[in-house]
Amino acid sequence: MNLFDRNLEALRQENLLRKIGDRGVISGSRNSSRISIHGIEYINFASNDYLGLAGSLELAEAAKKAIDAYGAGAGASRLLAGGTEIHKQLERSLAKFKSVEAALALNSGYTANVSAIPAIADENCTIFSDELNHASIVDGCRLSRAKKIIYRHTDTGHLAELMEQSKGRKIVITETVFSMDGDIAPIGDLRRICKDHDALLYLDDAHGTGVLGEGCGALKHFGIEPDSAIIQMGTFSKALGSFGAFIAGEKTIIDWLVNTGRGFIFSTALPASVVAASLAAIESIRSDKRLIERLWTNRTGLFDGLQKLGFDTMKSETPIIPLNTGSIEKALGLSRHLSDKGIYAPAIRPPTVPTPRIRLSVTAAHTDEDIDRLISALKIWQS
Ligand SMILES: *Cc1c(COP(=O)(O)O)cnc(C)c1O
Repeated sequence: MNLFDRNLEALRQENLLRKIGDRGVISGSRNSSRISIHGIEYINFASNDYLGLAGSLELAEAAKKAIDAYGAGAGASRLLAGGTEIHKQLERSLAKFKSVEAALALNSGYTANVSAIPAIADENCTIFSDELNHASIVDGCRLSRAKKIIYRHTDTGHLAELMEQSKGRKIVITETVFSMDGDIAPIGDLRRICKDHDALLYLDDAHGTGVLGEGCGALKHFGIEPDSAIIQMGTFSKALGSFGAFIAGEKTIIDWLVNTGRGFIFSTALPASVVAASLAAIESIRSDKRLIERLWTNRTGLFDGLQKLGFDTMKSETPIIPLNTGSIEKALGLSRHLSDKGIYAPAIRPPTVPTPRIRLSVTAAHTDEDIDRLISALKIWQS
């Protein structure tokens, strides 16, 4: 056995080996509330496509039109004219949507964090990072060479204490909606602490965009006006049903990213088709509030059902609802039980999360019956 065989075997022994499960095509349906695995159809409670836009006709039509006009690939980075008028249009539309001066499209949320964080932070700066922040934030902090101080999850008292003891330039980085726990960061308090310490606040709104604040994201949810000390990152890849990401904020920050964001400068532009789909998604959210209403009605329905059954949903406040199972074995067992009942809800294990769980995500594409079926299946598991 070579080194990698041995390491893989160790993961297998600990029930931590991961495998790629490819999603099949369900004929006649692009509905993300359904998933086909090895030819079997399941109700999908593992999608980040919160509004069901990924399969929408409007987005697909917009992408097709852009392919017809611009072809499949961008051919070069934005600075080498790989971008199109649609890229600019998307950025203008975003800036308006987020009520900020400017926005920049980036190739993915991962790229956005590993590009923007090193662009705004350097070795003379201290980053305060929530302990549950996403891996892309962790990597962005490492690449920045800034000093990093971790504060306890959403604990603003702990953060204030740590900031008190620290000198020099400061940046606070947090997810808005935490991707594994489904709770919301206390943005108002974070904003106040940042003001006290003249610190920048960097928000990763990957799961807030399209979900909170009528789709505009976490700041609007809290009624906070964007300003020069707040940088918002968001993605097109989750509720917006497309692909890619953005940074939104003051024009000087955006100009700085254009000049120093390595994942922007040294990477080929997003294809126009993808950008056109993102633009169509923003239009959809703006023009039709019913999608977001449906999402939240479904979220409340499922959450209430889970409460009645007595599940530990941790601190979930959003369509992301974890079921804390206590052990990896129980998480895997529950996931298998649900799978037998035609429901796809994978177990999430360390190192992705500290506590093993089933991570449910409910979307606007689920029907009342889908939610009832999940609740019934969970009831059987308990008995
Ligand atoms: C998904 C996610 C990202 C990465 O976004 P992609 O567009 O999928 O690369 C970044 N941050 C958070 C909090 C996420 O959940």
